[in-house]
Amino acid sequence: MERRTLLKILSALPLAGAAAAQTKRKEVKSVEELQKNWKSLLAEGAAVPSASEPLKLDKEEWRKRLEPASFKVLREEGTERAGTSPLNGEKRAGVFVCAGCGLPLFTSEMKYESGTGWPSFFTTIPGAFQTKKDFLLIYPRTEYHCARCGGHHGHVFDDGPRPTGLRYCNNGVALKFVPA
Ligand SMILES: [Zn+2]
Repeated sequence: MERRTLLKILSALPLAGAAAAQTKRKEVKSVEELQKNWKSLLAEGAAVPSASEPLKLDKEEWRKRLEPASFKVLREEGTERAGTSPLNGEKRAGVFVCAGCGLPLFTSEMKYESGTGWPSFFTTIPGAFQTKKDFLLIYPRTEYHCARCGGHHGHVFDDGPRPTGLRYCNNGVALKFVPA
């Protein structure tokens, strides 16, 4: 097609189409931005630990420190019942930190409604998690856990939304929300 013809067609496209194309480009770029600028959603003056200061406790110490439901998920790889977490409906701006050790894991801008009944995210704060394959169900899944305390958070699947296509399916009891 001749360049001039193409330009004519493009200029005839409705503006909504152009705006949608622009949004798409912005969205792709923004994952990196969301990761880089996550601290902009951290409450002012909030002191948060980093993954480079590991928190290692024995099981009994964890049991004393955590609510029973959080202990079951974080330290025994349990799964909370779908739809039970108040964080499913959490829509405020802020940061989700590990309920075990306070490490920042996700921001509110990384969250989306997956309809699964578990808080779901399409990306994470860089360095927040480590992963392993598990075979607790018949098929292999990618388990992820806190890079600082090793606490189990959930599984990551590849049926998430654009632009990452990832779904971090997180147990709500493993998270604490810190409003911005
Ligand atoms: Zn942790």
